[in-house]
Amino acid sequence: MPTALITGITGQDGLYLAELLLAKGYDVHGLIRGQNNPRRDLVESLVPDVRLHTGDLTDMSSLIRALRDADPDEVYNLGAISYVAYSWENASLTTDVTAKGVLHLLEAVRLHTGDDPGRVRFYQASSSEMFGKAQADIQNETTLLWPRSPYGVAKVFAHYMTINYRESYGMHASSGILFNHESPRRGPEFVTRKISRAVARIKLGLQDHLTLGNLDVQRDWGFAGDYVEAMWLMLQQPQADDYVIATGEAHSIREFVDAAFRAVGIDDWTRYVRHDPDLRRPADVDRVVGDASKAERVLGWRPTVRFPELVQMMVEADLQASRPG
Ligand code: NAP
Repeated sequence: MPTALITGITGQDGLYLAELLLAKGYDVHGLIRGQNNPRRDLVESLVPDVRLHTGDLTDMSSLIRALRDADPDEVYNLGAISYVAYSWENASLTTDVTAKGVLHLLEAVRLHTGDDPGRVRFYQASSSEMFGKAQADIQNETTLLWPRSPYGVAKVFAHYMTINYRESYGMHASSGILFNHESPRRGPEFVTRKISRAVARIKLGLQDHLTLGNLDVQRDWGFAGDYVEAMWLMLQQPQADDYVIATGEAHSIREFVDAAFRAVGIDDWTRYVRHDPDLRRPADVDRVVGDASKAERVLGWRPTVRFPELVQMMVEADLQASRPG
């Protein structure tokens, strides 16, 4: 039975990946941080077979201990301070966790594997935010990186450090450059979930409006359940490599809002949506859209959930969750 260690087990992707690996017969371990983590109960109820280890990406000795105790064949590094807007307010902390934390984990894996660096396969959760001020209409693995937030900059550091450990030490370290992926488990601070939740609550009469920033930015949105499959596929390859994972379609936030309101039967939503210029970011990423043809060719990966189904899925889940009683 292969063994996997997942950092970021309490997050959206950590939960989907844990379910996927358990279904494949893995012995799954998760790193959980903090004293009395409020999401521990959720992890224990959704994936009770996962064994949890206390640790933090900023504390290298805790990572060495978790590796020793779990002794994994595969390590998936999903832990990060992942909310772009927050990363301007906490740039130093974001750098400690999202950038330096990855160096800690790579180094801990290197020490753990000793003379056999390929013994543990490593996945790094890179991000389309690394493309930032996009230097190509559609971005692939060779597009120049131009991050536009402390989060994006931290991810670029982590991305190149992963490549550097692969090239320097022969580690089987792969990096998935994942474009935005969403689900009913997306944190409520992220714009897609903010929209799906508000639309459900407006429909149920529990809320009267939704406040948003720039509606014109465009993202390439896929379903998190599809994207964790790509992470696993990367670690099954004989050679480690980097892959863009995306749907290849760009949609604006305005389109997301429109699809979400239509999903509850509201065609004219303008009176429910307010604009707050303070929600604009110091530097925005206007449009990113990914070319996942390498992942399709090498991994045989393709997204199964398209934009309209994704929005529908999220709104329906929030309607269920918001219904009184
Ligand atoms: P998420 O829901 O925000 O989860 C982030 C996870 O990181 C949480 O489990 C969190 O744990 C953990 N974490 C935060 N600080 C930590 C620390 N100091 N030490 C250890 N763990 C820590 O993110 P996600 O959407 O699942 O994304 C997973 C990964 O993919 C992240 O690295 C994210 O940056 C990256 N990514 C996401 C997307 C996307 O669209 N979702 C796209 C590209 C890349 P707590 O519960 O303790 O806070």
